[in-house]
Amino acid sequence: MIEFKNVSKTYEDTGVKALSDVSFSIEKGEFVFLVGRSGAGKSTLSKLIIKEESPDEGEIFVDKFELNTLAKKEIPYLRRSVGMMFQDFRLLPNKTVYENVAFAMQVIGASRGEIRRNVPNVLNLVGLGHKARMLPSQLSGGEQQRVSLARALVNKPPVIIADEPTANLDPDTSVQIMELLAEVNQRGTTMIVTTHAKDFVDTMHKRVLEFRDGVLIRDEKEGAY
Ligand code: ADP
Repeated sequence: MIEFKNVSKTYEDTGVKALSDVSFSIEKGEFVFLVGRSGAGKSTLSKLIIKEESPDEGEIFVDKFELNTLAKKEIPYLRRSVGMMFQDFRLLPNKTVYENVAFAMQVIGASRGEIRRNVPNVLNLVGLGHKARMLPSQLSGGEQQRVSLARALVNKPPVIIADEPTANLDPDTSVQIMELLAEVNQRGTTMIVTTHAKDFVDTMHKRVLEFRDGVLIRDEKEGAY
């Protein structure tokens, strides 16, 4: 599903080697935590997966795409295969919950019929069917993160990358969001979750990839933080 083969990435402007000879592979349906201090290279890894950055060395495979040889015009198709969730949610403030999720389908040219079918389904899945007409500002942080998950899910990508999904949430809400991510994973979506939330990593017993200064220093099947 996702494979990195000897991938290195140096940012030219600063000369920082953000990733150094990184190799791993993630199978379809896995749930993987990416951990490591700030600056370890986790965001760079996510950016490489959606080809927002390119590696200096090595090969990257995502779903059916080989990123080194992927033409520019193919990049939108790659990005449809990877749903993104952000710690700051990144919802459109003047659109309702329904419209925020529908928008993700409109931009890829989905038909009105598909939108009318999929959006309510995915809002029900994240427990927000009854708040479809509200604006993001009328929701709690946890609810906004659910909308963000619904938006990531609505085009049915095989993989979701969640960047610190609980960073801005209180502990109870964080538990609910992590449980929801695990549930979505149970339904077959490959889930990659960047986190500093030690408790979840320790209790969920999922695979852990740990980075330090751009080096993959640990790949544990049922790891702890
Ligand atoms: P993390 O997500 O684990 O905090 P990052 O991937 O953001 O780590 O950063 C890894 C290293 O690369 C850091 O030293 C950071 O300063 C550097 N870096 C990240 N993005 C850029 C960029 N756009 N330009 C230059 N250096 C960058």
